[in-house]
Formats: sequence, C-alpha cells, structure tokens
Amino acid sequence: MARFIFITGGVVSSLGKGLASAALGSLLQARGFSVRLRKLDPYLNVDPGTMSPFEHGEVFVTDDGAETDLDLGHYERFTGVAARNTDSVSSGRIYSTVLENERRGDYLGKTIQVIPHVTNQIKDFIAVGEDEVDFMLCEIGGTVGDIEALPFFEAIRQFSQDKPRGQCIFMHLTLMPYLAASGELKTKPTQHSVKELRSIGIAPDVLVCRSEHPIPEREREKIGLFCNVRKEAVIAAYDLKSIYEAPLAYHEQGLDQAVLDAFGISPAPAPNLSVWEDVADRVNNPEGEVKVAIVGKYTQLEDAYKSIKEALTHGGMANRVKVNVEWVDAETFDSEDAAPHLEGYHAILVPGGFGERGTEGKIKAAEFARTRNVPYLGICLGMQMAVIEAARNVAGMAKAGSEEFDHEAGQKRFEPVVYHLKEWVQGNHKVKRKADDDKGGTMRLGAYSATLIEGSKVAKVYGDTSIEERHRHRYEVDTKYREALEAEGLCFSGMSPDGRLPEIVEWTDHPWFIGVQFHPELKSKPFEPHPLFADFVRAARDNSRLV
Ligand code: GLN
Repeated sequence: MARFIFITGGVVSSLGKGLASAALGSLLQARGFSVRLRKLDPYLNVDPGTMSPFEHGEVFVTDDGAETDLDLGHYERFTGVAARNTDSVSSGRIYSTVLENERRGDYLGKTIQVIPHVTNQIKDFIAVGEDEVDFMLCEIGGTVGDIEALPFFEAIRQFSQDKPRGQCIFMHLTLMPYLAASGELKTKPTQHSVKELRSIGIAPDVLVCRSEHPIPEREREKIGLFCNVRKEAVIAAYDLKSIYEAPLAYHEQGLDQAVLDAFGISPAPAPNLSVWEDVADRVNNPEGEVKVAIVGKYTQLEDAYKSIKEALTHGGMANRVKVNVEWVDAETFDSEDAAPHLEGYHAILVPGGFGERGTEGKIKAAEFARTRNVPYLGICLGMQMAVIEAARNVAGMAKAGSEEFDHEAGQKRFEPVVYHLKEWVQGNHKVKRKADDDKGGTMRLGAYSATLIEGSKVAKVYGDTSIEERHRHRYEVDTKYREALEAEGLCFSGMSPDGRLPEIVEWTDHPWFIGVQFHPELKSKPFEPHPLFADFVRAARDNSRLV
C-alpha cells in the first residue's frame, strides 16, 4: 500500500508547489521507488477545460482524455509517469459527484454535509490506485486558509488518521521574504502559515522555504523551533536558472532524505541522479542559440503555452542549443504585412487556440514560413490555419476558412476547409456531438493513434509509421479538399487509422513545414525530447546557420 505525501502551500501563491512536488517525485524514483502525483484544486469549475488560458494557464490533457491543471504537465515531465483522469480533481467535480449521488438516492434519509459527505468523496479520490505505487504525492492547490480549500485540508487530515501511523506525511511550502532595508530574512510569515495549518489539525513534517537569499543555519533552527519541525526537515528552495535543476537542487538541500526520514525509511536506498545530471548539463551548457517565434493569442501569460515552451527547451537539449522563445501576438498583423514582425526568427511555431481573434495573423505567419522557407510547426489550430493558407493562396480557394469562425459570426462567410466534427471513432465506439452541445469535456480529447505515410518527413522524424498523440479540438480539416491540396504539394502524411481524419500535413518541397492536429508538446520530457520538437529545433539550428 502506498505511503502518502500531502503537499500544501502558505504565505503566497505561485511558490512552485507543483515543481517541488514533481522534483520530489523524481527524487523518490531516483531511489528506486514508484510514484504517482495528484492535484486537488479548490476552484468550483468541474475541470479547467472551460477556463481561459489567460486566467489559468494551459489546460493539460491526459491520455485518457481528462482536461487538467498544468501542474500535471510538470508531474509528467519530471517523472515520466503518464497522468490519468483520476489524478486531477476540483471542488467542482467533488461537489457535482456528491450532488449526483444525492439525486440518485445514494444517501437516502441523510442530510448531506461537507463533513462527512464531501470529505469522504475527497478521501475516495485520494485513495484511487493506492495499491499500485510506493508513494502517492497529493498537492493541494491554493494556500492554507483559502475558503474553498478547507474541505480538502479537512479531508487530508482525516485521511492521515484513517491510515496506520507513519503512512502519511505533510510537506508545507512557504516564502521567506528578505527585507533589504534591514538585510534580514523574515521567518514570521512561515510561522503564521504553519500556525494556520496546525489550527486545522495538520502538523507539517517537512517545510520547504522559498527564498531569494541563502537561509543561514541559525534561521533554519529558529524556524524548526517555532514551527515544531526538525531542523533537517527545513529545506531551502532557492531560485534556479532552469526548472530542470530542481531535482538536483532539492536533493542537495536534503528534501528526499527528509521525506524518507519522516517515514522512518532507514537506511534510505542511495539515489541514482545520472539522468538529472545529464539534463542539467544540457540545459546549462548549450553550444549555440536559436530564436523561435511563437505566434499566438495568449502571449501575455507564458503559462498559456507552458508545455510548448518546455517542449522547445527539450528540443534544444536534444541539439545542445538554447532556444530563445519570443512571443508574437498574431493580432498585431491581422490586417497588415506580417514580414516585418517575423523576419529574423530561425523558426515559427503557431500553437493551438480557440476563437477567431488573431487567426488572420496566424494564416499570414503560415504563408510567411511557407514562402520564405522558414521552419514551421503548426499545432492544432496552427495546423488548421496552415491548411487554410494553402487552400487560399496555393489551391485558389480564396474563401477558404473554418466553421469555428462562422459559428461565432453566425453566418456563412467561408468555404469550410475546417469543419465542426460531429462523429468519430474512439477505440471501439462511435462518439457523436451536436453543434449546441455543452462546452465542458465535449471535444475530441485524449490519445488517438495515427498512421503515417511511409517515406514522409514525419515518418522519418518519428522513425515509425504508427503513433499515438493527445488531442483537444472540436474542428477538423475536411478530407474533401485533400486531393486538391495534395496536387499542390501539401501532403496529408498522417491520418487516423480509419483514414477519415487528417492528423498531419506537410509541404513536400519545404525544408521543414509540418502541421499536426494533436498536441505533441504534452508528451515531451527533458530526458526524452519529443521527436517533432527535437527535429524542429534541429531545423531551426540549420536555418540559423544560413541566416
Ligand atoms: N479551436 C480549434 C478546434 O477546436 C483548435 C483547438 C486547439 O488548437 N486546441 O478545433
């Protein structure tokens, strides 16, 4: 049965709880243990699928089709363990399940209350698959004291009491601010945060203190004393040049040792950190640089394209180059020449997106890349825009467009080269959708396979003709136009196994122009860069030598 590590945060948000959890997971793996990471989010949305990337950052999609928090991306990138639908839950999902149970009559005769009904539901969620791994790491979103998070804190407190002694520990992340005027690190916010945690019955076993300055031994002792935590279990977390140094940095500060000590696992198996040493070496010692433009809509918030940014970094690591990403807002050249905005980049990436805003700019970016021989990677919407560009500017269909935008405008303005998908095959069954279906969870989501054409560029890149990638989209390129586009050189080099849905397109006479309907970035890892990103960055590097 698994041991449980509950990870909470205090003082301020954005302390890097997700990263600390992911790094701890990787360190436990390095010591030979199996792990699974889980996220419990206090917000009331059933899942983040309906939240704007401006608000919440990217939506991370799992193989089994769940739309989850971006922290699950960190978990996968650091542990390589594919997340599941059961690894992400929100208050919204917990409450809607409790309410469904109530309507069905599961609790007949009872008054439904936060304790025990909501807390029991949370506890059931935490325990799913507990026999499968050595350690289950559960991160609680938000900070201690948040109103919505209270049922989660209560549930983990109860959970630790339900289990035999020594099977659950609590790790708490806080901030140690530095007062420049007095030249001091302050421990008081950490003390208050722990006090808050203890007032709801949780005593932390490990404290992780984020700090911009070295924490002197004396301050560590003080925190330990005031917070009732062993001083060896007060771990400093300093700012890092790259997140991929986190496993080594946390190990150096003694995090994994403190966790194993808290469980009384002694002697602790020695860690093998060679993977992370190699990763850190590749991040820190690049032999060149490339400049890649991400032409998107949500460019103010980098987290909106988190996995893409990370996948590009991994692609850089594969080629030992540093990838400098610049965010270009597609809307700025919706109705002007794109060239002045795009010249000088070694490659262009058009990511996924929803809605019409900025799409004319993205179409221009695809045209620029095609006509100037600049490497282009179009992801999901970025592929759809590349196909529209080909239809309009090469195949002579001046009115080519997407039904997605006609829906918004409520009128037929375009020839729908990209249409609303209403029916497709998932495994052994047919999925059906209507245009006015609910928005939540109704897209084509999760892992689907594709068959690649032998001899195509993508088949070479993957070194395979059968692949499986994660999807998240409602619209699809219409095969009706395949012949006309292929006659012009836009090869449909990857299709769904039934041949009905285009998965990949590529220009045959271009150095590197590939559009994919899926999200390859979700499966890339620092120790296993995704082949498309590795080869895209290689093409950018080759191009940089020409410029
Ligand atoms: N909006 C497009 C669709 O739903 C693309 C989605 C995406 O890029 N993830 O098909």
